[in-house]
Amino acid sequence: MDIEIIAIGGYEEAGRNMTAVRCGRDIVIFDMGLRLDQTTLNEDADIVGMQVADLVKIKAIPDDSVLKANDGTVKAIVCSHGHIDHIGAIPMLAQRYNAPIIATPYTTELIRQQMAGDTKAGDAAKLMALKAGQRYTLSQNLILEFVRTQHSIIDAVTPVLHTPEGAIVYALDFKLDRTPVIGEPPDVARLRQIGKEGVLALIVECTNVGKKGRCPSERIARDLVRDTITTYEDDKNAIIVSTFSSHVSRIKTIAECAHEIGRKPVLLGRSMEKYATIAEQMKLVSFPETTSAFGNRRTIDRTLRRIMKGGKDQFLPIVTGHQGEPGSVLTRIATGDTPYQLMQGDKVIFSANIIPTPLNFGQRHLIEARMQLVGARVFEDLHVSGHAYREDHYEFIQFLQPEHVIPAHGGMTMTAEYILFAGEMGYTPHATAHLMKNGQRVKIR
Ligand SMILES: [Zn+2]
Repeated sequence: MDIEIIAIGGYEEAGRNMTAVRCGRDIVIFDMGLRLDQTTLNEDADIVGMQVADLVKIKAIPDDSVLKANDGTVKAIVCSHGHIDHIGAIPMLAQRYNAPIIATPYTTELIRQQMAGDTKAGDAAKLMALKAGQRYTLSQNLILEFVRTQHSIIDAVTPVLHTPEGAIVYALDFKLDRTPVIGEPPDVARLRQIGKEGVLALIVECTNVGKKGRCPSERIARDLVRDTITTYEDDKNAIIVSTFSSHVSRIKTIAECAHEIGRKPVLLGRSMEKYATIAEQMKLVSFPETTSAFGNRRTIDRTLRRIMKGGKDQFLPIVTGHQGEPGSVLTRIATGDTPYQLMQGDKVIFSANIIPTPLNFGQRHLIEARMQLVGARVFEDLHVSGHAYREDHYEFIQFLQPEHVIPAHGGMTMTAEYILFAGEMGYTPHATAHLMKNGQRVKIR
């Protein structure tokens, strides 16, 4: 059987991930992501109202015109997890294909909400939830399996497509976290078993392949956050924490630390409210019962006014804006655009890294400078990554023993770095290790 990998998006940038796998006449699409930095959209942004053609033109969403009608039939659109760079283009592109959208329960719910917010998105009824550990028959020749993994968002999986020629593993995104804060560690036993059965190709993220060693566990981030928040004595000043709103494990940690020191956790920001509320409603997480969440500007400002009256030391706001994004809650606080007044000795904690773009560095610098001007204390980098490092990739290849490797989810510096790494592992460029660009295809059978 003819098997072809078609790189559609995310092979020349971090973002707008989309890959198609063609097995004979059957096609399976993995992810339909949005690229945030290109359009200076942030976590809180809404892309409703922009034309699909314009979004393709500015490289915010994948250019799926590389998929031709005579390639065959799309049997499914499979999403590995709920990050915007994996599901963000679903409302714009999915209706072009008469295929079910398959993802884990939490991811499915995030997609459903996204589609509900976009009138052009079409029918959300094609959404299908498949749990980690489950399988689903897509066609006579194809079975889809979800293998449990860990990442910086809950309910992430490694989708595996079983074909008559061997398995195709789509490992975007993952970390081999043995001690996660929410959920179970990755299902290594199953990965090894799939490796024994035979893996034809591994399509794999490569964001951190240039980092030596192993990616620290989320447990380490929990210790870092706890070490800072819970160790101050007799503190009457504000403590504000900003982190990724989709990072529910981290938000749980921060909320628990707040509770421990007798402060009420308050989640502020549209996306902050969304990810946490859905997770709690689906019983995937439980926050301390004093936790509350507010999403729209009016209720956020009302809450901040209430905090100013009630005493800053009674609350711990967990807010959007860790990259200094304009319009985010932290940026508005820093610029004095809310009823909340920062003062000498107030603490602002970033439980996030700066996503390395010049824009982010500039915006973060600006809000930090403004906060420091009034005497606020800034704490940085209480964070660990959600992406596998070099030695995790080494182990992953040991588990799976794939015939071919195809790095995705990064610019050329990252994908090329993975090809070099694959070379050390015995792979040959062009033959078994494939450096692909958006729009390119490679036949592996
Ligand atoms: Zn991700």
